[in-house]
Amino acid sequence: MRDLDPSVLRDKMVEEQLIPRGIFNERVLNAFRKVPRHAFIPDKSPENAYGDFPLPVGEGQTISQPYIVALMTQYLDLKADDKVLEIGTGSGYQASILAELAKEVYSVERFAVLAESAQAILNGLGYINIKIKVGDGTEGWEKFAPYDAIIVTAGAPSVPEPLVEQLAEGGRLVIPVGGGFSQTLTLVKKQEGKIAQEEICGCVFVPLIGRYGWKT
Ligand code: SAH
Repeated sequence: MRDLDPSVLRDKMVEEQLIPRGIFNERVLNAFRKVPRHAFIPDKSPENAYGDFPLPVGEGQTISQPYIVALMTQYLDLKADDKVLEIGTGSGYQASILAELAKEVYSVERFAVLAESAQAILNGLGYINIKIKVGDGTEGWEKFAPYDAIIVTAGAPSVPEPLVEQLAEGGRLVIPVGGGFSQTLTLVKKQEGKIAQEEICGCVFVPLIGRYGWKT
């Protein structure tokens, strides 16, 4: 059925959910037109994948609605040459969007089953510029630091210090900060060694659990 053609649904998602709400970066919009979001969700259903809502990805975790993924990505202001760190691989969808926009993507996930499933999907789609590891992302990923951009896709009680340390000069960090049930999407920038923080909007994410996050 033509209506369920994934690329038609993706164009519709971009036109109806992203552009009217202020996603203007053409490179970001093109990544959303290209990446098959339905490949990353458990039931692989295009009907659900391109809807204006978050979706379960297993282990009690969720993938944000397309608009939030796009908004966070736009604030990262990625250049084709950038190295990006993602905390919370989940389904791997956000990682693939990042991989379309930057040179290298590093992603950390605490659940091995999610990391393995994301890796398999990303391999199947041919992404070769994404490295995933299982571990506590609140500690960052020291080995490949510094990063031009860091995105945290789970809600933190405060900005984890190691992530600020692993941010390059001129780097951007986007992270939901706040309580366990709702947070403020926050942009942290490192300029001339100084940290500037800006609040973007309210949001709701699953908790970031780890040494510099919520304790289990
Ligand atoms: N970016 C994902 C959505 C992630 S949901 C996507 O595109 O699908 C948030 C993820 O963060 C969950 O998978 C959760 O297991 C993970 N997470 C929570 N705390 C973490 C930590 N300290 N380190 C790494 N991953 C963490």
